[in-house]
Amino acid sequence: MTPTPQPHSSPTPADDVVIVDVRDPSDTLPTPPGDALPGTRTITLETRLLDENDRRAAANRADFAARGLRALNFVSSPGAGKTTLLGRTLDALAPALRCAVLVGDLETANDARRLRRPGVPVAQITTGGCCHLDAAMIARATAALPLDGTQLLFIENVGNLVCPASFDLGENRRITLVSCTEGEDKPLKYPPMFSSAHAVVLTKIDVADAMGFDRTLARDAIRRAAPQATVFELSAKTGEGLDAWLDYLRALL
Ligand code: MG
Ligand code: ZN
Repeated sequence: MTPTPQPHSSPTPADDVVIVDVRDPSDTLPTPPGDALPGTRTITLETRLLDENDRRAAANRADFAARGLRALNFVSSPGAGKTTLLGRTLDALAPALRCAVLVGDLETANDARRLRRPGVPVAQITTGGCCHLDAAMIARATAALPLDGTQLLFIENVGNLVCPASFDLGENRRITLVSCTEGEDKPLKYPPMFSSAHAVVLTKIDVADAMGFDRTLARDAIRRAAPQATVFELSAKTGEGLDAWLDYLRALL
């Protein structure tokens, strides 16, 4: 007998953050490797999944164009500063520019709450076990938000420098962040996320010296992994380098 799936409930009130819960109720947390049942086989469905995703992404892109908005997909490893940069960006651009935000995380609506600003619709996409956003999740979340008149839609992907590269969300620009608390060679270790980026943002430059981070080495790695990308170096904390980033966003409109 299959139990009726129950929607997950939020442990705390959602405030004015829209929660789009896309968790599969049958998901369980991963167990440590080594205890798979004998005879278990893994079948690769990635190609078919990606074909389906690409179709949905194309529909999203058409929807965004019809609405006259530009969508940006922010990707990075966890802790690179996506939410902090988005917060500073909203403070600088909204409400003069009409912005909306979708945030993806496995659990919690913490980042969506951090990004609440007057007049800025925010939705938290709770993915459960899923380590990336896909185009169907974006379609559900955009349908849940009042997007009329929105000019810039910021999508903060799940912190993960691997598979979000494979999932087109229908975005107009993909922005890959890498921080000065990571290795300078990160772009060379995770090429797809950089080779598919329209822009690469080196974040937390205010702590580079303290971390012994070599920005010249990092710049070289970014250039090699993402020769097509516009590169920004900034600190969302001190504001250094922020103007060029904001000009880039304004120029998208
Ligand atoms: Mg975040
Ligand atoms: Zn994933």
